[in-house]
Amino acid sequence: MVEVINPATEEVIERIESATVEDTDVAVDRARAAFPGWRDVEPADRARLLRRLAEALDAERENLVRLESQNVGKPLGGARGEIDMVVETFGYYAGAPERLLGDTIPVSGGVNMTFREPLGVVGLIVPWNFPLQIAAWKMAPALAAGNTFVLKPAEVTPLTAIEFERIALEAGIPEGVVNVVVGPGSQVGQRLAEHPDVAKIAFTGSTEVGKKIMAGAAETIKRVTLELGGKSASVVFADADLEAAAAAAPAAVFDNAGQDCCARSRILVERSVFDEFLSLLEPAVEGFRVGDPTSEETEMGPLISADHREKVASFVPEDAPVAIRGSAPEGPGFWYPPTVLAPVSNDDRAAREEIFGPVVAVIPFESEEEAIRLANDTIYGLSGSVWTTSGARALRVARSIETGVISINSNTSVRVTTPFGGMKQSGVGRELGPHALDYYTEVKNVYLATEED
Ligand code: NDP
Repeated sequence: MVEVINPATEEVIERIESATVEDTDVAVDRARAAFPGWRDVEPADRARLLRRLAEALDAERENLVRLESQNVGKPLGGARGEIDMVVETFGYYAGAPERLLGDTIPVSGGVNMTFREPLGVVGLIVPWNFPLQIAAWKMAPALAAGNTFVLKPAEVTPLTAIEFERIALEAGIPEGVVNVVVGPGSQVGQRLAEHPDVAKIAFTGSTEVGKKIMAGAAETIKRVTLELGGKSASVVFADADLEAAAAAAPAAVFDNAGQDCCARSRILVERSVFDEFLSLLEPAVEGFRVGDPTSEETEMGPLISADHREKVASFVPEDAPVAIRGSAPEGPGFWYPPTVLAPVSNDDRAAREEIFGPVVAVIPFESEEEAIRLANDTIYGLSGSVWTTSGARALRVARSIETGVISINSNTSVRVTTPFGGMKQSGVGRELGPHALDYYTEVKNVYLATEED
């Protein structure tokens, strides 16, 4: 039995039967049985069903916002933004079934045609930080391309995924196309990765588990897309609009209590403006509103669990260079205050490992060359930012930093219409935008001979 807890109150809000490996196999069988029917639905009808699903999700918006807020301890404003994006994602991919076009390639003696074929049953494994939003990034393109799926939410945050399965059925998505299995990753997740009838795994989570999934998938040569950890840098040059950079910095690392793979958990600041930047940052951090997630004013809630809080706290030992500290409630709830460490060396643990909490390391640099070297001195490569008023430098540095996504004079990383994903150990493949469809389809090449042999 899984006890689902509200991290802001520590109260049990739901008890759910935990699925086993056998339950996982049953779900894969259902998805496999439903696949030919869903694949063969006319593209216009599949588009219509996805539009209807987007409308049904829209109608349930407040229910989903409340569940996500309670289950993750998210402020309502953050949860609202995520469910908005879920609706938008299904609306966007509803346009895809009728646009999955191929090429015609004339060759000697005939013509080749390419088709974008669905893969079959896909396994979707998602984490607890943005439960339904990250699932939607996978579910919507998977369905649009004609796949069926088994979704495994994180055991601690299953509530919106369970609701999604109901909403999809009610919206007319045929039985067996959408399957949700709530159970431990080491059993349900691992089984999906190894199951011979699962064609692909799309995973978001830690780099450690990503490696296990790749290894499990190798046996059956599954397609794998992985969206893993990050240690993204915001690079602030002396010629930047420092007030804008400092004002934007807290939300970039404290939103979702820092439990965000795109968190700008390193801020690299040119040494000549280091102290000025910190003094601009101080009021923004101290004023960051931490507390009751059900208040519309709140900007940051608690961490997901007591264990996770302990892990985050281990990055701030007694002798840590705490330069700025915000406030947080005493408890109950898994609270941790916004914390700025400065100055930090890029070799320190707080600058190297993904903390996944509201702790940011501020690191000085002397030159553009050193800024690029430090930003790239990490195993990760997910996102980042460059703050400067020089257009040429902005583009030069953005292109030199080895990440899948980077913003100039902004900390925005994700939009439904544009590709998102990592370089290096931050992952494989891209989600969102038209690019995601490449990872839920296989190109088939058909040759038609137009001349007698
Ligand atoms: P995990 O990578 O452990 O979990 C992500 C998902 O994978 C969950 O659904 C989990 O299931 C499942 N899972 C766990 N083990 C396996 C396995 N062997 N095979 C298949 N699936 C598995 O992340 P955590 O939630 O434990 O977080 C740990 C750290 O990972 C964080 O502190 C953070 O650094 C990073 N992380 C990064 C995220 C990102 O967005 N890039 C998201 C979440 C975490 P279950 O939990 O139900 O057992």
